[in-house]
Amino acid sequence: MTEYAMLIDGDRVQGASTFGVVNPATGQVFAQCPKADEAQLELAVGAARRAFPGWAATPIDERSRLVGEVANAMERRIDEFAASLTAEQGKPLDQARGEVMGSIGVMRAFGAMRQEPRKLMEEAGKRVTEYRRPLGVVAAIVPWNFPLILLVNKFAPALVSGNTIVIKPAPTTPLTALLFAEVCSDIIPAGVVNVICDENELGGKLTAHPEVDKISFTGSTETGRKVMASAAAGLKRITLELGGNDASIVLDDVDPKEAAGQVFAGAMRNAGQICVAIKRAYVPATIYDEFCEELARLAKEAIVDDGAKQGAQIGPLQNRQQFEKVSDLLDRTREHGHIIAGGSALDREGFFIPPTIVRDIDDDAPLVREEQFGPVLPVLKYDDIDSLIERVNRSEYGLGGTIWSRDIDRATEVALRIETGTIWINQLMAIDPRIPFRGTKQSGIGVEGGLEGFHEYTQAQVINAAVPA
Ligand code: NAD
Repeated sequence: MTEYAMLIDGDRVQGASTFGVVNPATGQVFAQCPKADEAQLELAVGAARRAFPGWAATPIDERSRLVGEVANAMERRIDEFAASLTAEQGKPLDQARGEVMGSIGVMRAFGAMRQEPRKLMEEAGKRVTEYRRPLGVVAAIVPWNFPLILLVNKFAPALVSGNTIVIKPAPTTPLTALLFAEVCSDIIPAGVVNVICDENELGGKLTAHPEVDKISFTGSTETGRKVMASAAAGLKRITLELGGNDASIVLDDVDPKEAAGQVFAGAMRNAGQICVAIKRAYVPATIYDEFCEELARLAKEAIVDDGAKQGAQIGPLQNRQQFEKVSDLLDRTREHGHIIAGGSALDREGFFIPPTIVRDIDDDAPLVREEQFGPVLPVLKYDDIDSLIERVNRSEYGLGGTIWSRDIDRATEVALRIETGTIWINQLMAIDPRIPFRGTKQSGIGVEGGLEGFHEYTQAQVINAAVPA
């Protein structure tokens, strides 16, 4: 059995205790994870605080080089990282590899970013310049759907811009984060990166800690509210990437089969456990039947299996709690719509729910209103665009969304009326570290990615000089 260790002040350390990590494809514990107590949390935050001045003073080219070294080291161990992700998260191995490669890309993209001083004014007797300075200690809290890339999305901009970090993975997917910690321990100076694990007890303590300057949180809207509340006392800087209920709008000029294939992929990838997965599809009445039939065909043909098995396309739900939540949602869906594929958990070990398609479902069904975060897609019919937009926007969430059309101008006009941070036209989840990604409404606060996302790990400082004649 692999000996997993946390990373505190440059040392790979055992926890005060341990807990079991379950493979969601079997429902069985397959590894023991070290668990930090409050004293270890203190040590981790203290180490990050002490390491901050030295790291902030290290030239950005050197910080970026070291982050690049982490990317290179991960690339050399790509198979090990992918296998670890599949074992603890459940996703098929090719998708796990994709997540590792994406994480390497994120580190390289932020490694290439720079924050040049911005000249605000330069005239006789006056020079005003805005500089960017790191914030201090960042608390990075990560969910279980993309345990590696969502961690790296915080690690890379935080470190390149000169902050130190304490990372806390989700309790059900801590092991790939510990592999990452092992890689960092050989490359990054002591205290700059710390990784501690918990079973949900330490997140609140970390976010409330007075020595933490910035919280970067990805997870549910419900927990996001708690994070925001705990940041209030110290007026900490926060970035919250929260839940979504993304709509996919199919316009009437598409080939129904082709669009159905895309919508299916967008709803079922990672067993639907993606913040920007397609969570409700809106299809014109003229092509509704054909569209639903194609979705049902794809659902029945999909290979649902242990992600470690060759050919598996859809893995299990990541944990028992999520499996029970989606199973319950399915039960509550029966009276609201007509299930034409899937519909109940598979009779086997592990947390498997097959791809499920629900048609003729009403707008007020829990499956339409709530974030399902599972492989269950409601398909809704529409007649005219104006009422469609009102239906789509009737949501507390506003993360992403997709529109399918041959006419980009028409799709853009519709997109401009949808209340979300991003709309993808004729493509799925084209998230890129160079492009800002943000939620509106209760899907989040702040930005990840792009120069704007990079800036979130800094404080702007204006130097306003009167220049002697
Ligand atoms: P979660 O909110 O249950 O947990 C996320 C993390 O928060 C875990 O590490 C958990 O231990 C920690 N935590 C728990 N209680 C805490 C507290 N009081 N204070 C601080 N941290 C605490 O979320 P989840 O179920 O792991 O993830 C799924 C959710 O994440 C979905 O809603 C999904 O849409 C969202 N998500 C959003 C994005 C995005 O970029 N917007 C990306 C991925 C996932």
